[in-house]
Amino acid sequence: MSENVLKVAGLKVAYGGIKAVKGIDLEVNKGELVTLIGANGAGKTTTLKAITGTLPDCKVEGTVSYMGQSLKGSKSFHLVERKLAMVPEGRGVFTRMTITENLMMGAYTRDDKAGIEADIEKWFGIFPRLKERSAQLAGTLSGGEQQMLAMARALMCHPTLLLLDEPSMGLSPIMVDKIFEVIRNVSKEGITILLVEQNAKLALQAAHRGYVMDSGLVTMTGNARDMLDDPRVKAAYLGE
Ligand code: ATP
Repeated sequence: MSENVLKVAGLKVAYGGIKAVKGIDLEVNKGELVTLIGANGAGKTTTLKAITGTLPDCKVEGTVSYMGQSLKGSKSFHLVERKLAMVPEGRGVFTRMTITENLMMGAYTRDDKAGIEADIEKWFGIFPRLKERSAQLAGTLSGGEQQMLAMARALMCHPTLLLLDEPSMGLSPIMVDKIFEVIRNVSKEGITILLVEQNAKLALQAAHRGYVMDSGLVTMTGNARDMLDDPRVKAAYLGE
């Protein structure tokens, strides 16, 4: 039987009178790359924020379990200690720290100095632009460079589960390809991933399974390959 890394059941979120998520179930199994796609305002980011407990003060119902345990009340640093890393929309890099410092912050739960240094070199190899700018403040990087840094920083803790919110947003086509190549490679290394994306085609091409969200509900779920061929997905999300 497949092992759940993440299980969301009956999740409802309301911002005042606005019901953003209306009762969804979602599972991510060990080693899977699962994508959550849907139009603007469908409730995707709200779902990710509910998983990590980073919603503003609003009404939340349902359960979220990670590795069989509730995440209720976990602070961000507890999540990293439990090897759950998130790259939020808008990246969330530490703008007043250098690139190297950001990467070291990502590894703050580790004490293997040599391993941390080796990982930083590994990411500098994958993203040479970060190496060239290693002493530069992260706040001065371009959007694409911040996305590379946010992804590398999240992976510095060797997460069990990586949550990605719209990693392709605002990036040039070349950068989008690069980020998706990294996502695929990270997935091949065995890290479990939940990927929220507007770019449904790229997301479904990379993923094992997908969920479609529409107006706060999951309207479709299945094997990503099948979803790519589904006429409803093609018409609504692939522009075909
Ligand atoms: P996008 O792809 O555009 O980022 P999304 O699927 O991630 O969209 P959410 O950001 O989760 O959608 O938003 C779902 C709904 O909740 C939207 O109608 C949005 O206006 C509303 N919403 C989100 N955050 C808040 C908030 N802090 N206060 C009030 N309403 C909010």
